Amino acid sequence: MKDRYRKQELFIGKDGQAKVENSRIVLIGMGALGSASAEMLVRAGIGELVLIDRDYVEYHNLQRQQLYTEQDAAAYLPKASAAKERLQAINHQVTLHTVIENVDHHNIEHLIEDADVIVDATDNFETRLIVNDAAVKHGIPYLYGACVGSYGINYPVLANKAAPCLHCLLEQLPQQSETCDTAGIISPIVQWVAAMQVTEALKIICGQEVKAELCAFDIWTGEHTRMDVKCLQNSDCPSCGTNAVLPFLNGFSRTRLDALCGREAVHIRPAAKKSLELPALAEEWASIVDEITANEFLLVFQYMGHRIVLFTDGRAIIHGVNDISRARTVYDSLVG
Ligand SMILES: [Zn+2]
Repeated sequence: MKDRYRKQELFIGKDGQAKVENSRIVLIGMGALGSASAEMLVRAGIGELVLIDRDYVEYHNLQRQQLYTEQDAAAYLPKASAAKERLQAINHQVTLHTVIENVDHHNIEHLIEDADVIVDATDNFETRLIVNDAAVKHGIPYLYGACVGSYGINYPVLANKAAPCLHCLLEQLPQQSETCDTAGIISPIVQWVAAMQVTEALKIICGQEVKAELCAFDIWTGEHTRMDVKCLQNSDCPSCGTNAVLPFLNGFSRTRLDALCGREAVHIRPAAKKSLELPALAEEWASIVDEITANEFLLVFQYMGHRIVLFTDGRAIIHGVNDISRARTVYDSLVG
C-alpha cells in the first residue's frame, strides 16, 4: 500500500501529499454531493473527514448518491453511518467521524472546530447561510456547491474578508424555487460540482491560490459561465461587512415554524423573504402536485398527502400535520 498515492504525489508533490494527510475537512450533507466529494477525498488520503447528515438512505437516493446500496435503503441506515462503512473500506488510513444531526446555529461552531476546509453538500439555503456565518467568523474556507436538473453552481467562500461571502452574493444566486424533488436531477452534474469543490479543497490544503469566481455549468446544454465576483463584496453585508452581526449564526434570521392550535396545520415563515413567481411555479409543478389552484397571492395544492397553501413571500401553511419537523421536510423538498 506504500505507493497508493504515487500518482497524486507526482502532481502535488510529497510535500502536498503530507499536507493532505494532515488536513481535516468537514462535509455538511451526505446526499449526492457529499457522497461524491467524500469518496474523492478519502481516496486522496485526507487525514480526517467529518461526515454530517440528518437523514437516512432511501431507494430514490440510489440513482445518484454513489456510496449507498439497496441493503442500506432496506435497513433505513443513516447516511453518515452507511457512508462511513463504505469509505473506511476504501481507505482504512483516513479517520472518519460521523454526526447524525441537523446542522443549526447552536451546533455549527462545534462541528467545524479545527477544520481546514468546509464542503457544502446541503440541500437548503438556510443551512448554507448559517455555515457561511460560522465560516466567516472563524476564517475557514467554505466551498459552496449546488445542483438541480442538469445545472450546477460553485463558489469558494474564502472567508478572509477580502472576497464576497455567500450572503454578499445572494441576489446573484439562482432563486430557490427549484429543488431535486420538483425539477429532478441527473447524476453527471453532481460529479461536476463535487469535482470543482474537491479541486478547490486540495488547492487550499496545498497552499495554492483559489480565485473568488462563481462558476456555473449546464451539463445537458454545455453552457458554462465563470464570473469574477470580487466587485460584489458588500461592506454593509450583515455576515462579512464592517459591522457584521452574523444574523444566521446568532439566530436572528431563521425559519419560524408554528403549529396552528386546533387546526392540524403548521405555518412556516422562511428566514429570508422570497419573491416567488407563483404562475411559473404552478406550471413547473403541474406533474408533481395535485389539485393546484392559483391566484395572484397564493397557490393551493396537494403534495405528499398534505394540502399546502404557499404565498409569494415564501410563507406556507401545511395542513394535515402537527409535527414541525415533518412540515419542514415537506417544505424544503418543494421550496429548498
Ligand atoms: Zn458578505
